[in-house]
Amino acid sequence: QAKGGGRATYRFFSPRMNSMAQDRLLLGAALREAIANGDLELHYQPQIATRTGELHAVEALARWTHPEFGPISPGRFIALAEESGQIETLGEWGIEEACRQMGDWRQRGIAVPSVSVNISPLHFRNRDIIPPVRSALARHGIEPQMLTIEITERVILDDCPMALENAHALDALGVRLSMDDFGTGYSSLSHLASIPARELKIDRSFMKDLLTGSSPGAIVTAVVRIGQSLGMTVVAEGVETSLQHFFLETLGCDVLQGYLFSPALPPPALEAWLKERNVQASALAVHG
Ligand code: C2E
Ligand code: MG
Ligand code: MG
Ligand code: MG
Repeated sequence: QAKGGGRATYRFFSPRMNSMAQDRLLLGAALREAIANGDLELHYQPQIATRTGELHAVEALARWTHPEFGPISPGRFIALAEESGQIETLGEWGIEEACRQMGDWRQRGIAVPSVSVNISPLHFRNRDIIPPVRSALARHGIEPQMLTIEITERVILDDCPMALENAHALDALGVRLSMDDFGTGYSSLSHLASIPARELKIDRSFMKDLLTGSSPGAIVTAVVRIGQSLGMTVVAEGVETSLQHFFLETLGCDVLQGYLFSPALPPPALEAWLKERNVQASALAVHG
């Protein structure tokens, strides 16, 4: 019995596995603390309006550097948060922190039209997101149009009532909904049309298909057309090369995001980046 402790444990868990399980427990507790202590940070990656080169928005991406373990990737700690029941706390923290940052930028005259916050499907399906969104917006004097919530298509696969309610309530409030990592799940086109998302993000795994394979760019082209036909703003993520940039521009993809422009940056570095390149805020982002 693994639970019996002592030597018996090793019949079921190798020392290696055992230490991995211990690491997870330790990390789970540490994440709880990090959220409470403010050890978590949001970095911001610019999204550029293709036609004008203006700033469409920035995507908030969580960063966690553990004092002992060092930087832990979002892939790892988001999964940890989901497994340990902390994902709603993390999501609500992200909304509050993004709104606080927008308030700070506004006060200092730094023009960032919109911030996009990722919300886990688990969170979106299980909890009313409106109260924390409303209170964060009100606390920092932010218009709903300046906040975007990114959810992945996993969210709406099976008509979860809470998820649908969240989507429609956000839309009614004026908060933009963005369909993240599009093309990696299995959502049907009728699903896409029924969800009030105003933005569609093509998953970065498709960027490599732009220039290779038997029909280069076919999928990306199709997704851009589908999104635009539905009246959505189409964002390409993971743009790394100027050839990809050129292709997407020719295609009429609305917004570009990727290392070609900038990785996610801490606020001071983002401010320096905007100033150095003289990037203006896009007015369309707020009204579109
Ligand atoms: P995502 O929302 O699809 O975010 C885009 C990811 O692609 C980010 O990874 C970003 O750093 C990375 N990326 C951006 N441009 C490029 C590029 O040109 N090339 C490549 N190879 N990668 C690029 P990151 O920050 O490691 O985040 C990974 C995922 O973790 C995110 O994917 C998102 O699903 C999740 N995540 C991050 N922050 C949060 C958060 O605050 N809350 C929640 N629920 N999830 C988050
Ligand atoms: Mg995202
Ligand atoms: Mg994405
Ligand atoms: Mg992604």
